Amino acid sequence: CGIVGYAGRNAAAPVIIESLKKLEYRGYDSAGITVLGKEIETYKAVGKIVNLEAEIPKNLGGSVGIGHTRWATHGRPSTKNAHPHNSGGNPGKISLVHNGIIENYMALKEQLTGEGYVFNSETDTEVVAHLLHKHIYGKPDGKEAKCELLVGLRESLKEIEGSYALAILSADEPGKLVLARKDSPLVIGLGKGENFAASDVTAFLSHTRDVVFVNDFETAVLSPAGVEIFDREGKPREKKIEKIEWDF
Ligand code: GLU
Repeated sequence: CGIVGYAGRNAAAPVIIESLKKLEYRGYDSAGITVLGKEIETYKAVGKIVNLEAEIPKNLGGSVGIGHTRWATHGRPSTKNAHPHNSGGNPGKISLVHNGIIENYMALKEQLTGEGYVFNSETDTEVVAHLLHKHIYGKPDGKEAKCELLVGLRESLKEIEGSYALAILSADEPGKLVLARKDSPLVIGLGKGENFAASDVTAFLSHTRDVVFVNDFETAVLSPAGVEIFDREGKPREKKIEKIEWDF
């Protein structure tokens, strides 16, 4: 239902929680967060954002993170089915949040299961985490990245049918998060030494009003220093920065 992302100088968790609360009005059944410090750390809870807050350790480090409010389409509302979904063992190499529906997830799940990937949820979303892992690390217990996250993502998206806004973290690429969009809203907020992503500008309007809208088939890399946007082939794109003038 709602996704948020943060890459900056401050601790990511409080910014992400604040942003998720701004999206509560849209409705949701569960919520979750991953921050990337030394490693991937994921927390999830059913029900209100305050339940999620109760799971998160005080002073959680990591200045890059992603968050999600879920409105279940595939798989009942539960902690396991809440996003983020991870791949690559525990704590995991890849962590992601997703809005939308992966239409061909059954076929992909069957294929990935046959290749040794173990599914922890009943969601359509989890196939994307394992598909990314497969393209980057080659096999379920693969530890060495064979390509960059962005390259693995581009390959994975060729196999996915459906709608998505995705925000993704890789343990092997700290200090950034990667985004992708097709038929599901996604917007980037530009700050000073920190940048934001969300399915809805209201999530980060208290931090910045300078935004860039991500279009279908575009991917983006968000770091504290800046934002890069790429087309379907991976060529960099110049994008217009827009100012949000209205109040929420
Ligand atoms: N289809 C995904 C799920 O059921 C995402 C739902 C959403 O957009 O919240 O987990």
